[in-house]
Amino acid sequence: MIRPDLLLHETPKGLYCPPGDFYIDPVRGAVDRAVITHGHADHARAGHGAVLATPQTLDIMAARYGERFTASRQPLEFGEKVEINGVSVWLAPAGHILGSAQVVVDWRGLRMVCTGDFKRRQDPTCRTFEVVPNTHVFISEATFGLPVFRHPDDRGEMAKLLASVQLFEERTHLVGVYSLGKAQRVIALLREAGYNRPLYVHGALEKLCALYESHGVNLGELRSATLEKGQRGEREQFRGEIVLGPPASFNDEWGRRFPDPVTCFASGWMSVRQRAKQRGVELPLILSDHADWDELTETVLDVDPEELWITHGREDALVRWAELEGRKARPLRLVGYEEEGE
Ligand SMILES: [Zn+2]
Ligand SMILES: [Zn+2]
Repeated sequence: MIRPDLLLHETPKGLYCPPGDFYIDPVRGAVDRAVITHGHADHARAGHGAVLATPQTLDIMAARYGERFTASRQPLEFGEKVEINGVSVWLAPAGHILGSAQVVVDWRGLRMVCTGDFKRRQDPTCRTFEVVPNTHVFISEATFGLPVFRHPDDRGEMAKLLASVQLFEERTHLVGVYSLGKAQRVIALLREAGYNRPLYVHGALEKLCALYESHGVNLGELRSATLEKGQRGEREQFRGEIVLGPPASFNDEWGRRFPDPVTCFASGWMSVRQRAKQRGVELPLILSDHADWDELTETVLDVDPEELWITHGREDALVRWAELEGRKARPLRLVGYEEEGE
């Protein structure tokens, strides 16, 4: 078998495929050809010559960066194959956000799979992660790659929110959500839990919610949570309602106008008590779009690769776990990934 690093290796611009002459999720500057796993800003940048991604990811990039985010868009449906300079490339669902994909690269009998960000749980807003068989090298993210990270059932977290809404019927529940992925997932989960009242959303979420709806994700009735300045009667209408917005907006003028709010934040990091405290979150909701420790280790066992490369977080603990399992593993030091999706 040929050496995997001939097919994919780290460069200062990101993960590079020399025979195919393309990058996967390049984050340092523009490249001629990029394959993009999903639309979060720490993976998808504007300005590349050509971008190959799922149609959903291309739409998300156009919505965020403008229609001219790249010179050439190449939509690729899940499972559809393309040849790039003799390297076969296809995409498999990653279960992270709408359109999120694992990139599968096949060349001279060697198969490498790059997960991008992923989770294993069922999510009403995107296709569930699929295990790619016969993977030689599995490149896994490890955002929550420590055994202390065990995310609870999302239905339980939504039940907590709905119980609080019932209990404090005079207050507004302000739910902090990142605008791409988390916002739409929280809305869809509330609908699944039977919450049929209108949901109020900050202007920053409206465009991406509409985009999700245009891709067949039903979010129910959404209303603008923009308040007319000085209209005192207006704010009363939010009593007992759920309002969603980016966490940063709660401290600005917009957020301060809601009556007696219960501040919530939906994030995987809410399992870390200290983070909830620092942010002044009254009701932390542990909801992650990344695999937790059990999902990470189960996925390695399910995929059963000959080699594991780990990126994007706490590489060392997962490398150590893999080695104790008798597996070949190494950290992949790629710079530039942040935590937008969380
Ligand atoms: Zn990421
Ligand atoms: Zn992401």
